[in-house]
Amino acid sequence: MTAAPVLEKLNLSAANTAFIKRASKLLINGEWVHSASGKTFPTYNPATGEVITRCAEGDKEDIKRAVAAAREAFEKGPWKTMTAAERGRIIWKIGDLMLEHIDDLAELEALDNGKTRSVARHVDLPLALDAFHYMAGWATKICGQTFPISVPYVPGGNFHAFSLREPVGVVGQIIPWNFPLLMAAWKLGPALAAGCTVVLKPAEQTPLTALRLGELMIEAGVPPGVVNIVTGYGETAGASLAAHDDVDKVAFTGSTEVGKLIVQAAAGNLKKVSLELGGKSPNVIFKDAPDLAGAITGAANAVFFNHGQCCVAGTRLYAEKSVFDQVVDGISEQAQKIKLGFGLDPDTDMGPLVSEEQLARVTGYLDAGRRDGVEFVTGGKRFGDRGYFVEPTVMTKTKNTMSVVQEEIFGPVLVAQPFSDEEELINMANDTTYGLAAAVWTKDISRAHRIAKAYRAGTVWVNCYNIFDSALPFGGYKQSGWGREMSGEALELYTESKAVIVAL
Ligand code: ADP
Repeated sequence: MTAAPVLEKLNLSAANTAFIKRASKLLINGEWVHSASGKTFPTYNPATGEVITRCAEGDKEDIKRAVAAAREAFEKGPWKTMTAAERGRIIWKIGDLMLEHIDDLAELEALDNGKTRSVARHVDLPLALDAFHYMAGWATKICGQTFPISVPYVPGGNFHAFSLREPVGVVGQIIPWNFPLLMAAWKLGPALAAGCTVVLKPAEQTPLTALRLGELMIEAGVPPGVVNIVTGYGETAGASLAAHDDVDKVAFTGSTEVGKLIVQAAAGNLKKVSLELGGKSPNVIFKDAPDLAGAITGAANAVFFNHGQCCVAGTRLYAEKSVFDQVVDGISEQAQKIKLGFGLDPDTDMGPLVSEEQLARVTGYLDAGRRDGVEFVTGGKRFGDRGYFVEPTVMTKTKNTMSVVQEEIFGPVLVAQPFSDEEELINMANDTTYGLAAAVWTKDISRAHRIAKAYRAGTVWVNCYNIFDSALPFGGYKQSGWGREMSGEALELYTESKAVIVAL
């Protein structure tokens, strides 16, 4: 299928139309090249199921070429000899170029992913470019320490001991489709600040913005081979990257299931691994929430933002018994008002799910809930018969053992349960294999702190939800992941500590 007729109908900016026509290559060693096999794969408009264009289908051979380029750039290129300040300025420039092209990038993201233009423009893009600006400052602030060593078995010894923080080396980064540019920024920012070189594998559902970012990185002055971008499928390109013996570290964001495969693939050369995986986050509303109406809106946004395709989505709602019906009715009313449609249509509140596969997965869970006897207060099925839309859904009469309560659905689906006792609540909230995020709405300050402490989760929001910042560490407890992204903590993922001892 040719892309042209579909592209014309989409009425995109001239810059995006031109970009899409050239987005069929891989970035290896600073050059845009075809895949070694010559194969391509389609990327779809999830609102219609039509092919937007075809991208290069990278595979083992392309990963080999990209890793070799990243190794060469790491060992010999100007990236290694450049000062930290020079590196920081290039990273800053990437953020600046994203700002310059913010509207086009937002349009491209909305088209490829299905999210609304407004969410892409006002959430994804500002956060993504800020991740580069924030990490640009860290490039000059990655320091070791000095140590007052005593060495008990060398009486009279005199030593100067210190540590160096050095880049971990060649990094493979595998990212998902829910926030494609933002996930690329969270990965690339700290890796570049630390002085690593990278092979990035975007999700096959949303390859476009990563390729455009590749162009902007070249324009910003990132030297050849420092960032290589290989589009392609997870089972082929992704798996080859995770297993490659010359990759020093792999950073992955995606499902817990694939996270476990990454760990196995990484075992061959014991490369370092960091993982940001799934979640099934509890969102708890007490009757003394500072503003119950605000908590209800907050809870609706917590689960429906980005169509529920967020690893931190507040998908398990627990409301105190006396306000349970009011909370559930309030969220359901808001769910019914959400206007589903094409993400680039200005009237749309919520776009389609990203793919046919996701549609099948989410409707499969709705069917499982139905079989298990849950009650659908609103929603519960596919919306329309074109594109991958699902009705915003609220279920009650659920039990903690049901798959809809235990498993990550990754769609606009809420399960709601009442509670009457704080201890029982904590047990229910923590009764999950995940531990990414959690929230509580209450004006009792002691209770807020008590619950924040009791949650087994990497992020806890009190009287708010979905608050992110480049300066905040982000990651998961339990099967939600290993390591923390963003903030200074992210640099630990991309550096090694070397102890140096000098006899005086
Ligand atoms: P989802 O299930 O939400 O689509 P995945 O975890 O499957 O998320 O995908 C996240 C990223 O992992 C994507 O870039 C995908 O191509 C990649 N991926 C999928 N399977 C594998 C695999 N076996 N090895 C490496 N990467 C993979």
